[in-house]
Amino acid sequence: MVPFTFSSAADPAAAARPSAAYLAGGTTMADLMKLNVLTPEEVTFVRPALSAEVTKTDDGLRVGAGCTMAALADHPLVRSNLPAVRHALILAASPQIRNMATVGGNLLQRTRCPYFRHTEYRCNKREPGSGCDAQEEGADRSLMAVLGVSDRCIANYPGDFAVAFAALGGSVKTERPDGGRTIAATDLHRLPGDTPEIETVLRPGELITHLTLPFSPAAANGWYCKIRERSSYAFALASAAVGLELDGDRVKSCHIALGGVGVKPWRSPEAEATLTGKAATDEQFAAAAEAALADADPPKGTEYKVTLAKRTLAYALRRLRDDGPPDDATLFALQHGRDVG
Ligand SMILES: Cc1cc2nc3c(=O)[nH]c(=O)nc-3n(C[C@H](O)[C@H](O)[C@H](O)COP(=O)(O)OP(=O)(O)OC[C@H]3O[C@@H](n4cnc5c(N)ncnc54)[C@H](O)[C@@H]3O)c2cc1C
Ligand code: SF4
Repeated sequence: MVPFTFSSAADPAAAARPSAAYLAGGTTMADLMKLNVLTPEEVTFVRPALSAEVTKTDDGLRVGAGCTMAALADHPLVRSNLPAVRHALILAASPQIRNMATVGGNLLQRTRCPYFRHTEYRCNKREPGSGCDAQEEGADRSLMAVLGVSDRCIANYPGDFAVAFAALGGSVKTERPDGGRTIAATDLHRLPGDTPEIETVLRPGELITHLTLPFSPAAANGWYCKIRERSSYAFALASAAVGLELDGDRVKSCHIALGGVGVKPWRSPEAEATLTGKAATDEQFAAAAEAALADADPPKGTEYKVTLAKRTLAYALRRLRDDGPPDDATLFALQHGRDVG
């Protein structure tokens, strides 16, 4: 680890300094600093400046960015109104990490691309303009993205919660020296394009202080379906955050976002448009899955993810229509491949 100066901020205004890297729960930051992937000269511990409160608003929840993943997942109003958020949080990482990590830091976690995390490889995201060893002959690309990739970077966004957050149309509130703003969840992360090192629209020194999580009938009837190599403690190969408001056998409204396959949390307006107002049939769900992946541009070695993501999304929708949101026991049984009848 490279030496750095360390300070702690007691309030958001004091924390918002362009020169500093922020440390919240530290479960991404400390990891990457130990690997010398991140070498900030100045680190500000922002956790004391961040609220951890979850409060009810007129149309949903306002969540302090310092709230832990575990606390948000266990909040009674998340359990009752936002099942996909609960599922995405409790299927992520480990209990120890969920007790330490903040929801603000969770949204901003960095890619797990192995070439990013090891400094002996060339990586445009870590060192702009150096190249991308993930795209060299013989590289292991099996975990990379299929949606939104560029010739500079094909890394996927690894988080779970951000996928549910994008699906239901949340937003973040920020603070910075010249004033704060509200950013829609779907606008927070950027496509890599020619500048994969710039992952979000946040400016230097901009601090996320709160998240808003809106309630809706579709969000209340939702779930997060996560497919991974192991049934625990692994990132998604493909995932789907879905919500359906049904009117008889028709879809009145819906939320759909994909994880594990995009360079950012991937909400799919195309899939939502394919379903809205239509019959909730297996065929229509398959059509929505086709629409969601229509723009896929899979790098060599990732082609399987296109099929996997389509099947994950169509399955998530079918199961939701037939059985509603799974309770925790059913969710974990599904993760372990157990027949839940
Ligand atoms: C072994 C392991 C397995 C994991 N598995 C999963 C998984 O399956 N699914 C999943 O979703 N995640 C997984 N994670 C990632 C984990 O959830 C994140 O590391 C964690 O949520 C980050 O939160 P934090 O508070 O620790 O952030 P930090 O590490 O403190 O910060 C992360 C980033 O966010 C920035 N930051 C933090 N807070 C703010 C703020 N308020 N405003 C602006 N910038 C901020 C930091 O500067 C840093 O760049 C895993 C992590 C590990 C180590
Ligand atoms: S895919 Fe992106 S993160 Fe991975 S090595 Fe290439 S530039 Fe770096």
